[in-house]
Amino acid sequence: MEFEPVIGFEIHAELKTQTKVFCGCKVDFGQAPNTNVCPVCLGMPGSLPVLNRQAVELVLRTALAMNCSITEKSAFDRKNYYYPDLPKNYQISEQYAIIGVGGFVDFAHDGAPRRVRINNIHLEEDAGKNIHPENTAEDYSLVDLNRAGTPLMEIVTEPDLRSLDEAESFMKHIKNLLEYIDVCDCRMQEGSLRFELNVSVKEKGTDAIRPAYVEVKNVASMKTVMAAARYEVKRQTKAYQKGETIEKETRLWDEVANCTRTMRSKEAAKDYRYFPEPDLVEVHIAPEWQEDVRQSIPELQPAKEQRFIEQYGLPKYDAAVLTQSKAVADYFDEAMARHKNPKALSNWMMTDVLRVLGDEGIEPADLKMRPDHLAAMIAMIDDGRISGKIAKEVFTEMIASGKPPEAIVEEKGWVQISDTGAIESLVDDVMAAHPDVCDDYRGGKKKALGRLVGEIMKRSQGKANPALVNQLLAQKLSE
Ligand SMILES: [Zn+2]
Repeated sequence: MEFEPVIGFEIHAELKTQTKVFCGCKVDFGQAPNTNVCPVCLGMPGSLPVLNRQAVELVLRTALAMNCSITEKSAFDRKNYYYPDLPKNYQISEQYAIIGVGGFVDFAHDGAPRRVRINNIHLEEDAGKNIHPENTAEDYSLVDLNRAGTPLMEIVTEPDLRSLDEAESFMKHIKNLLEYIDVCDCRMQEGSLRFELNVSVKEKGTDAIRPAYVEVKNVASMKTVMAAARYEVKRQTKAYQKGETIEKETRLWDEVANCTRTMRSKEAAKDYRYFPEPDLVEVHIAPEWQEDVRQSIPELQPAKEQRFIEQYGLPKYDAAVLTQSKAVADYFDEAMARHKNPKALSNWMMTDVLRVLGDEGIEPADLKMRPDHLAAMIAMIDDGRISGKIAKEVFTEMIASGKPPEAIVEEKGWVQISDTGAIESLVDDVMAAHPDVCDDYRGGKKKALGRLVGEIMKRSQGKANPALVNQLLAQKLSE
């Protein structure tokens, strides 16, 4: 019997707000432990939560971008459980009247359109963090509550994905979409975007989904999500083929052993004893507010890709690469405003700029080189002021110092020599110094020309205009 994967996701995204969801504490990753806290997020008796309007707005924007119906009157509920990183012993979440329900996300996989249904999108608060000592012989653990109360959006999909590759495309699409609508910074390594898997398998060609599914937590990168999914599909398929059953449960990905293992049997909602949060009022989302937020949704990736093809005349491949990240696309747009040579700019972006971003693990906003400086450098190439070879050096300098290209070229004396007289004398000198190579060329060894050009370029310290050098040299050799 052949089986195929049935995959869905619970996606947790920390929202890009200045402050926490129910108090005024700052949301700021990487601060000293327990410094961004107050009586509300520490769960002190008598403290009262106040809802952050911006957090609701970001969930609303996501829900609209994912085609959900909006619940005009939503409300918060308490999800009760005990854990050291949860000081109140309950998490404020939404269970009965959720902001966004019944949506869908369209994306492309292998060139074909795919749709994943969204069950719901709701707002809750994040927990703190337990820190266990690396040395397992130590008998203590620490708790950092800086993250407690960070607004957290949970996107729950239906189990609509049918292959591992498709699941990977979907994750990339979601990350890209959340970046485009600017609701989450999507730094998976810092935990601000987390994909939790639901995996089960079904017999190929039938709709008979095995009812038991396994939820996998503790996956910090797309790579580990994929590894966990691969492992689970294999494990479950093997079990069914042997006639065994699979328990519905929550499993953890064990990075060291490279496998999933049981964490706990999957809780039912009743285990959390959900009940309405008495300290918060209902959230009313009027149609006018929805409309305002809908208007604020920016141009999304597919539309931007299309615009790059039409407006800039770029090949589809370039447009797709440049719009993968909104920040990269914005950088491109800004550079184009200064100098219009889209294909040259695209080449510099796809090779040199993306390489720097990848090597240093940074975002375009972290680059010292401004988009208009990159554009100005391309303009200098187009004007014949610098050669492509010098441009590579100028680029390196701009990345290092953030100075404009004109200043760098001036400072280093890198201006290209396009003065015919100056190049002519260089050509004469080199020809006089290498009569044998000249004879080789005249005798039919065409390769000899390259040696002469190389020598002239060297003498000019790379500054001679190569086109002019070639032209003058060929002319003089045939005289
Ligand atoms: Zn607080």
